Amino acid sequence: MVLVTGGCGYVGSHTVVELLQEGESVLVVDDLSNASKKSLERVRQITGKEVCFEQVDLKDAKALGKVFDKYCGKKAGDKIDTVIHFAAFKAVGESVKKPLEYYQNNTIGVINLLFCMQKHAIKNFVFSSSATVYGVPERCPIEETAGRSALSPYGATKIITEDILLDIAKADKDFSAILLRYFNPVGAHKSGLIGENPKGIPNNLMPYITGAAIGKLPPLKVFGGDYPTMDGTCVRDYIHIVDLAKGHIAALKKVRQQKGAVAYNLGTGKGLTVLQIIQAFEKSTGVSLPYTIVERREGDATECYASTTKAEQELAWKASLGVEDMCKDHYDWQVKNPNGYND
Ligand code: UDP
Repeated sequence: MVLVTGGCGYVGSHTVVELLQEGESVLVVDDLSNASKKSLERVRQITGKEVCFEQVDLKDAKALGKVFDKYCGKKAGDKIDTVIHFAAFKAVGESVKKPLEYYQNNTIGVINLLFCMQKHAIKNFVFSSSATVYGVPERCPIEETAGRSALSPYGATKIITEDILLDIAKADKDFSAILLRYFNPVGAHKSGLIGENPKGIPNNLMPYITGAAIGKLPPLKVFGGDYPTMDGTCVRDYIHIVDLAKGHIAALKKVRQQKGAVAYNLGTGKGLTVLQIIQAFEKSTGVSLPYTIVERREGDATECYASTTKAEQELAWKASLGVEDMCKDHYDWQVKNPNGYND
């Protein structure tokens, strides 16, 4: 059985779909502070399969311990053997305003989780890290060996968690961890049943675009038109959420075979500007998107895209969906669920 923390969230729910379709049994632990349990009903609709669910805050070591006791007493085959850890606060801007909450939630939670794993001798861990650990990249495409630096408390919590896992792997030769550094996940499951459900006004580009496209948000502001790129706007590596979720299946296979802690980029390796995304959105949906170019957003790197060689060679995984699928699927989800899961 795979324990998925944060399994009701955006990346978590899409990964749970792929796990179930691979025949894995899944236990989701989520405190529902920034996610809806309705996502799991939708997962059931897509897959026709059930998941176990426990509502627990990872900061509550006692409650988490009880969950492990409950699911580790089970017969072999249905006992937790791997943890995929998504549960964390994820808003960069909010982390700058509330650093203590971010350090508390994102590090105490994972430490409690790792202690429970240690108690029950569970050795396999897949961690939801981020390309944000690269700070402002020195060069692109970014390889996994590039230096790390935090530009926000959020980024710092990702680096701290990576370091915790690297140190455990040094101390315990049976421990296996895969650190997945996501680039820019966008899109939604083709069914339109699960997708991103941001709280309040989205900070990220794609949920803002789809919100503006259905008239729920004012026209898009493109942050900066004077970057040294092909059209003056920033370059990012957008990856379809279903490709990203499949990257976790590849990581699951690997983490069960290897020992030690290893990092992999999950991106497409292809950089796109903000204006290219707008064009692809208009082409794939037929919806015209009003926007204005405004001043730069503080802290934005000019370009950021992945080297995908290591993931291709060692995980045998490669993203396959293109930018038009990303835009169309994100838009379909938004149209079908204008208020996310809150309808
Ligand atoms: N962006 C933008 N308008 C928005 C949100 C984002 O122009 O309302 C730009 C942003 O400056 C960046 C790109 O879109 O160049 C991706 O931003 P996002 O916040 O989604 O990801 P990140 O910057 O964290 O990679």
